Amino acid sequence: MHWLHTVAALREQVAAWRGSTVGLVPTMGSLHKGHLSLIRRCRQECDITVVSIFVNPLQFGPSEDLERYPRTLEADRALCEAAGVDAVFAPTAEEMGAEQSSAADRTWVIPPDSLLQTLCAPHRPGHFRGVATIVLQLFHLVQPQRAYFGQKDAQQLVILQRMVQDLQLPITIVPCPTVRDPDGLAFSSRNQYLSAAERQEALGLYRALRRGYDHWRSGDPSAAGILAAAQAELSRYPHLQLQYLELVHPQTLQPLQKVDDKGLLAIAAYVGQTRLIDNLLLAVTPAEETPPFATTHPRELSGTSAPPRRPLIAIDGPAGAGKSTVARAVAAQLQLLYLDTGAMYRAITWLALQRGIPLDDAEQLTQLAAQTQLSLKSGDSAVEPTRIWANGEEITQAIRSPEVTHWVSQVAAVPGVRQELVKRQRSIGRDGGAVLEGRDIGTYVFPDAELKVFLTASVEERAQRRHNQLRAQGQQVTLEELEVQIQQRDRRDSERSISPLRPAPDAILIDTDHLSQTEVQDKIVSLYRQLLARSGTPCFDQ
Ligand code: C5P
Repeated sequence: MHWLHTVAALREQVAAWRGSTVGLVPTMGSLHKGHLSLIRRCRQECDITVVSIFVNPLQFGPSEDLERYPRTLEADRALCEAAGVDAVFAPTAEEMGAEQSSAADRTWVIPPDSLLQTLCAPHRPGHFRGVATIVLQLFHLVQPQRAYFGQKDAQQLVILQRMVQDLQLPITIVPCPTVRDPDGLAFSSRNQYLSAAERQEALGLYRALRRGYDHWRSGDPSAAGILAAAQAELSRYPHLQLQYLELVHPQTLQPLQKVDDKGLLAIAAYVGQTRLIDNLLLAVTPAEETPPFATTHPRELSGTSAPPRRPLIAIDGPAGAGKSTVARAVAAQLQLLYLDTGAMYRAITWLALQRGIPLDDAEQLTQLAAQTQLSLKSGDSAVEPTRIWANGEEITQAIRSPEVTHWVSQVAAVPGVRQELVKRQRSIGRDGGAVLEGRDIGTYVFPDAELKVFLTASVEERAQRRHNQLRAQGQQVTLEELEVQIQQRDRRDSERSISPLRPAPDAILIDTDHLSQTEVQDKIVSLYRQLLARSGTPCFDQ
């Protein structure tokens, strides 16, 4: 990786890259998962990935946090190196001619007034001309064909897109979705300023946006209604000092009275001394939406570059066959992403019960699935269950209640619910390297999965295992009751009209009646290793 500080050194490299597609990820450093997602996208689409790290003095107001802004150059360098970046350009302010003292005597890019009427611009005078000026300068220096920016800075994105259009620059601006923690907080370098208590308070930004979004999805397109819903949520966060909460058109940034086809709901607030911003797109066309779903992936967490595609494991089978325990252990051993798809169906069932939605109302259930933001995170160890949040609220325990277990098969039989959740499951597993566990993974969700396993066991054995589990948790259910429940669920799951439970023709059947969990785990791991050996893919297991 080239580590460049001067314009002269950069120019030399740029000359050497002629003929390649160059992508630029402009940053102010203090890199986090949001930046890493831009880098990853850039690497997928360009031959050369350049990251610029420059805390730009020209975009900070006199009373803003220029001095305090986190500078973590060494850590940034290591992250870029690990992420497969080709070159980092990290100039000084002097090298860029961008000291605050030079502001009165330099050339500026002035964004159009129409884009400066709303959102951050009135609160940060001069900010966007500082951004546009330096970004144009970086474009000239690096000469990228593509440049990557996060949607979290929505106004910046619109202003830069206009700059490229108005100045006819031969550059494509690539907007990338906001990356969030499972509880919804958008990644930001400024999150480092937050104490634990402040971080809790900071969740109010996203939750307020979600409330506005949900209100809109429930059928009220009026700005008054959407903003009031968001405000109602904000009132639960008394320590948030709201700077603005606005609904504007995502391209013109003009205030909207109502959302016709799309709107941008945006917020800025202070938590203590820290100013945070966030936004959500309210769009009719799903492709343009910030997906109301997020998940963390071991590869993202490590911040390293993506390994070559590794095969997918699909583990299906009836209730209580030991799928979850085995799948989790296999994933941990092979360092694969683990997805418990049953937890997703359970989450929708839990929400429907909470909201009193009739469980035979397919339309409302489908709508609920489409509107629900789900986040899943593997437990901290191989024995802990997947943690799950619905719309920012953790429901890991709640979805395991007897009531949810009783109703989940009915909700999972609704075609619209399945369609929505399968879409999300596919997007999680699409890059391979995952263990997905459920009822229809090998037959429907990933019919091309490289390794398909169907786990089964007799009803008596499954009931006995559940009984032991529940007893260990202090729950009182008789063995007979459990047998009836399990048979009922098997019947519903295998008789439903859409993707019923059954082994894929090419699945490997494992009857676990007389096998320990470790024996089953070993069998699957060894099948996976054989597969890797055949395909020549390196093995990452522990
Ligand atoms: O695996 P778990 O018991 O948590 O699954 C709960 C329910 O979710 C199943 O009984 C089934 O009705 C549904 N499900 C499904 N398809 C999947 C995973 C689970 O229909 N892929």
